[in-house]
Amino acid sequence: MLDSLSSSLKDALKKIAGKTVVDRAAVEELVRSLQRALLQADVNVKLVMHLSQSIKRRALEEEPPKGMNLREHVLRIVYQELVALMGGAGKVDLSQQTILMAGLQGSGKTTTTAKLARYFQRKGLKVGVICADTFRPGAYKQLSTLCAKVNVPIFGDPTEKDALLIVREGIKRFAETEVVIIDTQGRHALEDDLIQEIIDINEIAKPEHRWLVIDAALGQQAAEQARRFNEAIEIDGVLITKMDGTAKGGGALSAVSETKSGIVFIGAGETIDDLERFDPDGFISRLLGMGDLKALAERAEEVMADEEMDVNAMLRGKFTLRDMYKQLETVNKMGPLKQVMSMLPLGGMQIPDDAYDVTSTKMERYKVVMDSMTSAELDDPQIISGSRVHRISRGAGVAPEDVRELLKYYRVMQRALKGMRGSKFSMQRMMKRFGK
Ligand code: GDP
Repeated sequence: MLDSLSSSLKDALKKIAGKTVVDRAAVEELVRSLQRALLQADVNVKLVMHLSQSIKRRALEEEPPKGMNLREHVLRIVYQELVALMGGAGKVDLSQQTILMAGLQGSGKTTTTAKLARYFQRKGLKVGVICADTFRPGAYKQLSTLCAKVNVPIFGDPTEKDALLIVREGIKRFAETEVVIIDTQGRHALEDDLIQEIIDINEIAKPEHRWLVIDAALGQQAAEQARRFNEAIEIDGVLITKMDGTAKGGGALSAVSETKSGIVFIGAGETIDDLERFDPDGFISRLLGMGDLKALAERAEEVMADEEMDVNAMLRGKFTLRDMYKQLETVNKMGPLKQVMSMLPLGGMQIPDDAYDVTSTKMERYKVVMDSMTSAELDDPQIISGSRVHRISRGAGVAPEDVRELLKYYRVMQRALKGMRGSKFSMQRMMKRFGK
């Protein structure tokens, strides 16, 4: 997500981190690199200019807080100003509520409705979805397939053309349901009758929240959509989708922050778990490479609620093959591994792409291989020599390469965990300095 913005921001900060004195020239150089990085990510020019002026002024005029050196002071200012640029986060309740979804066709509204249903369901709430998109022929089928995957009931009628009728009945049907999400129709452009229909649905459903779904690739135009829908139904939260597919997501992110409603969630992938609560602090920390333990902890909590498994074991102590297997299982439940890893403060550490690629078939194979190992080998894979590799592969009926692959994977994970423990420490220290 926004990988190129992230690496240019990190590069810009690295330059200043290498300096012993931070003078006007250094601040100006930093600001220039930041400007370039933000403009490339499509953040609005005016916002970028405003941000650079604030950073320059504060860095040169403000006294560093006690105990903080000049360099840390500048980094902190950059961090704070970027958080301010994104605007605040929209409110998400974990209680009884109806949510009305708005957005244009193709924005990702239907997919996001299902992702949200999943999100609230994982929080332990009873969820129901109403399909009020009577315009697009396949909408009901698409939504019911997605909802069936996660066992969320859906109300709708593909033969009914009157969306208002469906909403009325759906609300009755889900009277006992805690979270009701209404997916509405979208078209290619903001047509007047589309707007009128959502105004009518809003009056009937009287939802607690009215959320707008926006495609990240829209960039600056996001502000215009937010404004139009806001005039119609008072949008109180924005979901930005497809952040995985564009390097220009900075446009939509910052454009929306200009409107009154904050961002509530970010969609960064096509699977039902690719939805993240938006938190500007965490988002910027991650962009700047400081990791985001908060988002990870939130996910870990959900999985633990499901599984009663101590995910935090990942962050401490001895790491055996048995632990690795258990953690792989857990991590797979937390969502795509790559996404989970990007939330960890791994600093600049590169993890090979194939390390993410642990499919369930592979997991099965790992399990068979591990079944042929002795307890001593599982507890201390270091002792697995060449002859042991052959013995294990014969026992498991796999090729020696398969055993070696498992061991290689183990070493990658072990290194990653070591790196994480180190950076977790330094991040805590950093956060303390940042007054968090
Ligand atoms: P709707 O017309 O607004 O209901 O849009 P859909 O939910 O049908 O989504 C349109 C397309 O965008 C589908 O192919 C989705 O799989 C895809 N999509 C939705 N959200 C995301 C996302 O966060 N990332 C990616 N890569 N694709 C997405």
